[in-house]
Amino acid sequence: MSECIFCMIANGTIPTKALLEDDLILAFDDIAPQGPVHSLIIPRQHFDNLGDGVPGEVLEAIFAAVPRVAKIKGIDESGYRVIINNGPDAAQSVGHLHVHVIGGSPMQHGMVRFSDSDEGVAR
Ligand code: AMP
Repeated sequence: MSECIFCMIANGTIPTKALLEDDLILAFDDIAPQGPVHSLIIPRQHFDNLGDGVPGEVLEAIFAAVPRVAKIKGIDESGYRVIINNGPDAAQSVGHLHVHVIGGSPMQHGMVRFSDSDEGVAR
């Protein structure tokens, strides 16, 4: 997986400013933030997505990091959205499992926008 950009971040080939890290996970800010706060949490080990046999301890480490990242970013009280784009229909663009933590300003209700709909609401 030497060409995986998140593997390169995880192994230090691409330098990043870690918000939080341990043996299993790494958190850092998204390069193209979609809100005042937009951070990512990735497993150090490569998994394509949630369907790639991710061990429970890795899932636990990822989700345990979510509120810690939110606190570091100062959005633990105001709230935040946690998103995993999983696979093609979800428009996953980086094929290394990652969790988005987005916040810093009030959001509209609803979170699903289908590509064949202008409504921007879940069906
Ligand atoms: P997704 O569309 O769910 O696969 O999200 C991939 C995310 O990775 C996008 O929000 C990108 O902006 C972000 N991203 C891609 N390359 C980098 C990078 N080198 N550093 C930080 N974030 C990145």
